[in-house]
Amino acid sequence: METNKPRMLITERIQGIPAEATCRSCPETIFRTGEDIVETAEEGERTLKDLFDHHFRTVHEEKPSKPRYAKRKGARNEQV
Ligand SMILES: [Zn+2]
Repeated sequence: METNKPRMLITERIQGIPAEATCRSCPETIFRTGEDIVETAEEGERTLKDLFDHHFRTVHEEKPSKPRYAKRKGARNEQV
């Protein structure tokens, strides 16, 4: 049941901080934390998760009634 569910897979860490991730169902998809430096592993993971979440919703869970989100490139709501 959970096996086929698309999941985020962290592919690159810089000094232990997640910097790049992919989708297990779409290996060609790459998520990056962006140009800004993230200070903590937690923040890096949260940023990637956010991008993955957007990818998941638009690619794997299409809801025709819902408007598409604007593409968020390295979007971050919080400043370090
Ligand atoms: Zn995917």
